[in-house]
Amino acid sequence: MLLDGNRVRDEILAECRTRVEALKAAGHLPGLAVILVGDNPASQIYVRSKIKTCEALGIYSEKHTPPATASTEEVVELVEALNRRPEIDGILPQLPLPPQMDPKQVQLAVWPDKDVDGLHPLNLGRLAANLPGPRPCTPAGIMELLRRYQIPISGRQAVVVGRSDLVGKPIALLLLHQNATVTICHSRTPNLAEVCARADILVVAMGRPASITRDFIKPGAAVIDVGTNRISTREEAARIFRGSAAKLEEFDRKGSLLVGDVDPVDVVERAGAYTPVPGGVGPLTISMLMVNTIEAAERKLGKACSA
Ligand code: NAP
Repeated sequence: MLLDGNRVRDEILAECRTRVEALKAAGHLPGLAVILVGDNPASQIYVRSKIKTCEALGIYSEKHTPPATASTEEVVELVEALNRRPEIDGILPQLPLPPQMDPKQVQLAVWPDKDVDGLHPLNLGRLAANLPGPRPCTPAGIMELLRRYQIPISGRQAVVVGRSDLVGKPIALLLLHQNATVTICHSRTPNLAEVCARADILVVAMGRPASITRDFIKPGAAVIDVGTNRISTREEAARIFRGSAAKLEEFDRKGSLLVGDVDPVDVVERAGAYTPVPGGVGPLTISMLMVNTIEAAERKLGKACSA
């Protein structure tokens, strides 16, 4: 079964639209401020589609673009100014920040109530303690996908490859809270294939193109491929896609191809359910950012009403 991220994204966004209308009717337009430091081309594309999605839903958005040479202090000052503005419900510093900046300091500066990335330590603590709060968008999107496709989690063996703060750790905690037995793997894990092959649910977030092959996948497993890797040689495209004429034609047209961390041919043959790349996890991330922004606005409205 193909787990269609585009379909789930459309469902989530349709629900978001209704919630935005309800907020507007109650007198509050949700607002998101995105901070894009420098001119990373991939970040520019992500930010553009976040702003476009806000527009499509009727969420107010604004983009701040400090130069690539900005200091951590300058960006922290900008975050603090946004914290004080009541029409802004969510603040999103687009990652990665330029190398001279300290991303932890910037994330810490965002008020936890406005932390729509769910990456503030207070919100990560809420996640660890299974208390309500904004969850990091990509892992939250994966949970929505599993829920909407009714993939059973409780009592299942889940293996997560990758231990980043952004994906690996939070998805492991979310699966644990739903009563999976969770194993987290990383670059020092011995016998990775053997560990992965025990998984009923395998979530891969490594950033290594097509490296989870047949032997890593238990027959019938649900395989969630978070990796987004761009390959730019024809040889690599031919090797990974086994000379597929359609894929090579796409490569020739675009000059590159997007590939996940999971071998795209092996996963189709071996898994019971899997996310494609592109069109799997990717589309869910922005929709969960919208959900987090709307929930921040709903919390604020709730507080204002009860005050
Ligand atoms: P990251 O911070 O670079 O973390 C990668 C993790 O993979 C690390 O924990 C690393 O282990 C582990 N790893 C690397 N090579 C390994 C190997 N050979 N064997 C076992 N573990 C290995 O990356 P990330 O931010 O989590 O992102 C991972 C991938 O997901 C990237 O391709 C990224 O582009 C993609 N991504 C996609 C979305 C989306 O919306 N679709 C969102 C976020 C990320 P160590 O800790 O030991 O180094």
